[in-house]
Amino acid sequence: MPSLPKNPLAPDRSVASHGRPAVDMPHVLPMSRREMDRLGWQELDVLLVSGDAYVDHPSFGTALLGRWLVLHGYRVGIVAQPRWASPQDLLAMGRPRLMAGVTAGALDSMLAHYTAFRKKRHDDAYTPGGRAGARPNRACLVYAGIVKQAFPRLPIVLGGIEASLRRITHYDFWTDKLRRSILLDAKADMLLYGMAERGILAAAQRLRDGLALAGPSVPGAAYIGSPDDLPPGAEVIELPSHEDILADPRKLMAATLAMEQHVHHATAYAVHRVEGRSLILTPPRPLATRELDQLYALRFTREPHPFYEGRKIPAADMIRFSINSHRGCGGGCSFCTLAVHQGRRIRSRSPASILKEAESLARNRRFTGSISDVGGPTANMWGGVCSDDPARCRRASCLFPGICPHFVVDPMRLIGLLHKVRAVKGIKHVRVASGIRHDLALKDVRYIRALVRDFVGGQLKLAPEHVADQVLRLMRKPGSKVFERFLDLFEKECAAAGKQQFVVPYLISAFPGCTPQHMQQLAQWLARRGWRPEQVQCFMPLPGTTAAAMYYAGIDPAGKPIPVARTDADRLKMHHILLGDRPGRPRR
Ligand code: SF4
Repeated sequence: MPSLPKNPLAPDRSVASHGRPAVDMPHVLPMSRREMDRLGWQELDVLLVSGDAYVDHPSFGTALLGRWLVLHGYRVGIVAQPRWASPQDLLAMGRPRLMAGVTAGALDSMLAHYTAFRKKRHDDAYTPGGRAGARPNRACLVYAGIVKQAFPRLPIVLGGIEASLRRITHYDFWTDKLRRSILLDAKADMLLYGMAERGILAAAQRLRDGLALAGPSVPGAAYIGSPDDLPPGAEVIELPSHEDILADPRKLMAATLAMEQHVHHATAYAVHRVEGRSLILTPPRPLATRELDQLYALRFTREPHPFYEGRKIPAADMIRFSINSHRGCGGGCSFCTLAVHQGRRIRSRSPASILKEAESLARNRRFTGSISDVGGPTANMWGGVCSDDPARCRRASCLFPGICPHFVVDPMRLIGLLHKVRAVKGIKHVRVASGIRHDLALKDVRYIRALVRDFVGGQLKLAPEHVADQVLRLMRKPGSKVFERFLDLFEKECAAAGKQQFVVPYLISAFPGCTPQHMQQLAQWLARRGWRPEQVQCFMPLPGTTAAAMYYAGIDPAGKPIPVARTDADRLKMHHILLGDRPGRPRR
């Protein structure tokens, strides 16, 4: 067990609240009135409602935001996976003084519940026992509804990936329809997209100061307002309206590409008109290194809340001893949600902060000596910076069609850090389990050498996604020759190190623009290598992504028509080309 204090609900008095109303950091955030009483809290300031179980680990957004708010003087409670037939579960800790934050959890609830062929999933890694069924479809809408029933007129803020990706008009694969902003459907007061620490803090401060919840000064927010209230001289991007997108599928592509730029530039406001109203999107303002360090220094137990009485939560077991080194990914892959969620700018923690976390893991009584991962969205982008001005950048990716000369990352600094983590007393192994960008890795053979020798636990995850260059271009991925160069080098370095290790390639079938011939090409390539890939994902257009716009509009980002396998039958056919002699077993 981790090192728990005698009273597992006792506050940690070592955490200062920086001159704000003093609130001690609890050992875990409360989920019941009894815990509030033990903390001496009469009422909550903020209630967080989540579709995931409450795991007190920095990889879980609810724990992260909850503790961030407490650090800044707010009393926060969590209702995790409430029953949704009535508001009863939300009433347990009483009406919060300021607001409720609602999230579907770490995944969009429709993605969590259905496979690429719209079949119901039976497992859920974010739920005790790993069983599906603990959260509703379209969880943000349902939870916002029961919050309204429980606490009429309480301000509601949506956050998390489901809200983030669905912040403007978007394509919904599961109903094969366009849907308007989730903010309107949920009838919530504001939505925070991306990583919401700054936004939720600004919202809480505004309410505490008697101001309206939403406003142009809340970073990374979407709310219904007036463009006339934006700061004078502010840059404003006019996105295609909901009605424009309904009338012309190509406008979905225009809106998506503009959103990618909006997130990346982080300087402008965006306005999206819908049904006579204006949805205002404020620029995001990601945390800086110092703030990330402060956030990750908070004493997370890294365990499910005691409420679960030791029941296993698969996701918690998977990430318990992993370290998140940075946020953001310069890749801008067209199918990936990161481009419109965290964005392309990399925000890294300092080496000292990462080492401190490693030391605290080594002291954990459950720790057996292995750090399962030091990484982020892409493991080898830690410390990456743009040496130019990202706000003026017009590219959609820092790595495609080639690595931008302004994208600066020092792979040996990262290797140096990994070695330092490994040298911490009590740590025997450090693994890099997050995927790496192979094109970036090829820039320095010493990185691959060190990775192979010291940080690959037998298998290295890579996401070439395909080998047909036409498809790779649409994905914004490096060409097949780059992947082959990496494989050659990887194998050579493994042989030199006397290690038998493997690359696990992640592949996507039926991507927009991909034809049966492209799938044959991939199947033949795999056969030549003698590979039977296990990680094959049939393409799913995730809301808000450029690939979803390709799928819906049948065009590439430049507006050129592309073939799209749209029916499940056509998608399955393509998928089976890869599965070869195993038809009838669609996976993932
Ligand atoms: S200039 Fe280059 S490195 Fe900088 S943001 Fe643009 S693509 Fe990325």
